[in-house]
Amino acid sequence: MSRSIALTLNAGSSSLKFAVYDIARGEPEELATGLIERIGDRPRIKMKAGGELFESRDLDARETDAPTSTLDIVLTFLQEHLGELNVTAVGHRVVHGGPHYAVPVLVTRAMLDELRALSSFAPLHQPHNIAGIEAALTAFPEAIQVACFDTAFHRHQPKVNDVFALPREYYDKGVRRYGFHGLSYEYIAGELKRIAPLLYDGRVVVAHLGNGASMCAMLGGRSIASTMGFTALDGLPMGTRCGQIDPGVVFYLVQQEGKTIDEVRELFYSKSGLLGLSGLSNDMRTLEAAATPEAMEAIDYFVFRIRRELGGLAAALGGIDALVFCGGIGENSRYIRERVCEGLDWIGIELDRERNKANERRINGSFSRTHVLVIPTNEEIVIARAVKTFT
Ligand code: ADP
Repeated sequence: MSRSIALTLNAGSSSLKFAVYDIARGEPEELATGLIERIGDRPRIKMKAGGELFESRDLDARETDAPTSTLDIVLTFLQEHLGELNVTAVGHRVVHGGPHYAVPVLVTRAMLDELRALSSFAPLHQPHNIAGIEAALTAFPEAIQVACFDTAFHRHQPKVNDVFALPREYYDKGVRRYGFHGLSYEYIAGELKRIAPLLYDGRVVVAHLGNGASMCAMLGGRSIASTMGFTALDGLPMGTRCGQIDPGVVFYLVQQEGKTIDEVRELFYSKSGLLGLSGLSNDMRTLEAAATPEAMEAIDYFVFRIRRELGGLAAALGGIDALVFCGGIGENSRYIRERVCEGLDWIGIELDRERNKANERRINGSFSRTHVLVIPTNEEIVIARAVKTFT
């Protein structure tokens, strides 16, 4: 007999992350997670089940030339390994939900049109998210489809962190600070509630440091400020994104260097950040290993900006009880965590270097006033939980 499962999809520009869950009972049970990477250029599929990598295979580029065929591969691949599956629900990560979507919603045609209109706010992600939804509607016409927004977690921030100092009409047109990585922050908030309820009730700064990077100030498990703004370009420098920048730079690039707006967008989104500063790579592992002067300058800037934002977010919270690291860099790079926490005793942070080196979950010293935790994030299960509420 086939199993009823929920599929979660996170469709990016060159990757498709997927996971399958049994949602028959209480908490969704993860059956497998996987990734097709390098879509458009030597694609490869990887899948893990029970925490073990059990399949990794190169694909023909033609197999992934359309989102529907990519999804077919995923389904065939899953069925080869897990047996016949009955996908009754699909949950989608959608980067931008605009000003209105503060909770997950069922996908409808009208909603898809609204999401399409938000594409210019998140040009790297939103069109791919929508293409993923369209493909899933074709592949699983009978399934419930749910959109989960990266912006939703931040929608109740105080107005002072939602607004830009522009004439008021722009706020009404949707020019606001949205904040992103909301699914990750929601997961971290849930984990804090489970493992450290007192901290959950307190003042927490979460640093989601991956290829995309942002920080969020949480009070009582709710976002009150974040480093990303109108788009996922603001705040911390990232793999290829510049992070916070003086808008005057845009005027200079257009007026003095004759760049088109599309060229400026490409520069800020795809050629800047760690890649731009290092001239070498967007990948933190590569930069740490290379340690060239340029790679070190890129790392210095990354760390400096995290520390600056940490001070600002702690001020917004009126103090800090815990700092949480997550994301590929936050969860794995001892070096970056150590550099971020250096000399932060003024904010009550004292790192235990040995625990940090051992990649433990709690890495503060015994006399540290502020807790420092490493919590591996899990955006997929947040989507699966949301899907389950609709079934
Ligand atoms: P995404 O935002 O694409 O989901 P991830 O959260 O997977 O990205 O993070 C990717 C980043 O994590 C890359 O810069 C990668 O180099 C970094 N990373 C992963 N493992 C390590 C490690 N052991 N040391 C340093 N950086 C790491």
